[in-house]
Amino acid sequence: EVYKADPARYDTMPFRRCGRSGLMLPVISFGLWQNFGTVNQYDNCRQMLLRAFDLGITQFDLANNYGPPSGGAEELFGKVLREDFKPHRDEMVITTKAGYKGWDGPYGDHGSRKYLISSLDQSLKRMGLDYVDIFYHHRPDPDTPIEETMGALADIVKSGKALYVGVSNYTPEQTKEASRVIRSMGVPLTIQQQRYHMHYRDIEDGLLDVVEEEGMGLVAFCPLFQGVLTSRYLGGVPADSRITHPMNGSIGQNVVTEELIEKSRKLNVIAAERDQTLAQMALAWDLRDRRMTSVIIGASRVSQIEENVKAIENLTFTEEELNSIDDILNG
Ligand code: NDP
Repeated sequence: EVYKADPARYDTMPFRRCGRSGLMLPVISFGLWQNFGTVNQYDNCRQMLLRAFDLGITQFDLANNYGPPSGGAEELFGKVLREDFKPHRDEMVITTKAGYKGWDGPYGDHGSRKYLISSLDQSLKRMGLDYVDIFYHHRPDPDTPIEETMGALADIVKSGKALYVGVSNYTPEQTKEASRVIRSMGVPLTIQQQRYHMHYRDIEDGLLDVVEEEGMGLVAFCPLFQGVLTSRYLGGVPADSRITHPMNGSIGQNVVTEELIEKSRKLNVIAAERDQTLAQMALAWDLRDRRMTSVIIGASRVSQIEENVKAIENLTFTEEELNSIDDILNG
């Protein structure tokens, strides 16, 4: 059936400014790392994307290697863009990345100009786009001069193939240096993308300050710890979860210890007192610092997206709630 976007889609989603740029991002964004390969059931993927957009999610996060197979998520997204989202392209922030292995040989990985520019060209072709909104260097490459990597990103912006550029998995020091170098080329580094959830708080140790100083936005990936911070795991690891069938670099069953599940049960009590599910509280918690522009969620079914977006109904925490959460996490 023909997709008609929900006219109410902008009524409730809060948007935050991405650093000191002109770009506004929804506090909840959607990522296609897992469950969006061409091996997955197309109709379920399509329904998730349409529902996400109807709920006010305007940012879709991809990478050259998402699938399986590598490139599969971009192909799938390209099909939905062509068949459903076409009239809405200018309402969307579509992002992709290169930095992990894209293809065989010395030019399909890391941070050379050769790799980044050809990878973005391939991504544009797969998605059927003239440009992406944000292009990221996916991880630091210590063997390529930062001037080369940032030079490639700057030229990509100047060529019009990406409107903004950013980095992911860079340390605070690497982020600061990258920002300084690319600014000297007349292009700002607009955004950083980093892992952040209740059990992984590295960004509190320097990166939040760096993005503020540099005027950059910050987005969190794996905000639900791949599902561990949801009600899905309160009774143990479910058979149909991604953790039971790890692929594409997701965490394995050995990570989900009894201790972790016990903490989730305690966190769930606080969430219930806030009238939230554990997933909703975990997302709100990630967004409690205004320097966090958006959280990028993943999902395997529409109902998860619907539940997660309702996090926006309560984004504030009392001191007491934050302290109780810290006590549980440190316990
Ligand atoms: P999450 O931590 O949000 O985990 C998503 C998974 O959690 C879902 O697939 C689902 O698991 C489960 N889940 C989500 N909502 C619910 C719910 N309400 N109830 C129960 N279970 C739920 O994020 P991801 O790990 O998927 O990462 C999100 C995005 O971040 C990626 O798609 C990608 O765009 C980006 N990313 C970037 C990286 C980088 O290096 N820059 C690295 C990793 C991710 P299940 O499938 O088992 O149902």
